[in-house]
Amino acid sequence: MEPAEERTLATARRLSAKLWAEKWEQEVEVLGLSDENLHKFRWQSWWCIEALWAMEDPRSMEFAGIEKKLEMKVGDAKLLGIVDRYHHDENGKIVIGDYKTGKKPRAKYEEEKRFQLTVYVDLIQSTLDESVSAAELLYLKEGVRWTIHPTEEDVLKMREVVMNVWSEIKTGCATGTFEARPTILCDWCNYKSFCPAHER
Ligand code: SF4
Repeated sequence: MEPAEERTLATARRLSAKLWAEKWEQEVEVLGLSDENLHKFRWQSWWCIEALWAMEDPRSMEFAGIEKKLEMKVGDAKLLGIVDRYHHDENGKIVIGDYKTGKKPRAKYEEEKRFQLTVYVDLIQSTLDESVSAAELLYLKEGVRWTIHPTEEDVLKMREVVMNVWSEIKTGCATGTFEARPTILCDWCNYKSFCPAHER
């Protein structure tokens, strides 16, 4: 991490150019983008970085952890999460932050996001033995912050869902049967062409 006083947009621009040349220019080749789309991709990536400076002043942020990989068990299910960042608030409690490059979801999809953040809350509280006051999603494209304050009840509900899903997975593995559950997202699924739910 750069020293606080050096966390400026100029530093971000210099580091972005360096990382692009050293790593990402080659890695994105696999996407097969046209020159025009590649240009657009780079600009959109940069706008996300710029938006972060509009949302907060990185010079005033002190993170206790970045890209922290955490693991825990819920029953016999293993939960693994990589928390983008977390810092302590003025009361010494943790605030979790997760960067998003997509658009802020509509209200009906917020439950899914709440679930993801609650997993992070449980991971932090259980493995680091610290209290979490808030968890937030930072939508860089739109410069919007979405914050939740998960309760103990939210954590218990999340664990129940994890255990139910894990139980379904184990049953599926034992019987070899995994029921297809078509949703609107099927249109983006790579397996749609041979998925039984879409057989004609
Ligand atoms: S198309 Fe994909 S997402 Fe949809 S039900 Fe089939 S496997 Fe699941």
